[in-house]
Amino acid sequence: MSGAECLFCKIIEKKVTAIIVHEDESSLAFRDINPQAPTHILIVPKKHMDDLRGMNNADREGIGHLFLVAQQIAEKLNLLKNGYRMVINNGRDAGQTVSHVHVHLLAGRRFSWPPG
Ligand code: AMP
Ligand code: ZN
Repeated sequence: MSGAECLFCKIIEKKVTAIIVHEDESSLAFRDINPQAPTHILIVPKKHMDDLRGMNNADREGIGHLFLVAQQIAEKLNLLKNGYRMVINNGRDAGQTVSHVHVHLLAGRRFSWPPG
């Protein structure tokens, strides 16, 4: 999928509305429209990439940055004490529905393991 057709690229370009909780030069974080926990935030790189299977060495910093952003958001929303879960679905069998790399940041309840 190209960036022009991509829902998350449209959110990044502010052509589609979302509740944004963090923005910087290379990433955006916004509330999931169908939350699976009291806190459910999606953290996306501004550079379009379908999923992590398309990653290469040049993406190390951009992808690594998403984890730092998650940590900053967790701190801001007071999630550090009880913890939080990060999920990245890659491809069909993982249940990925939007083809733009995104990290799910979930918190506010206990999660089971293994995942469904
Ligand atoms: P995944 O299934 O891992 O690809 O995750 C895609 C996520 O995007 C799902 O949790 C959806 O609820 C969420 N989502 C879909 N459309 C929107 C939207 N317009 N704004 C915010 N989140 C969305
Ligand atoms: Zn995109």
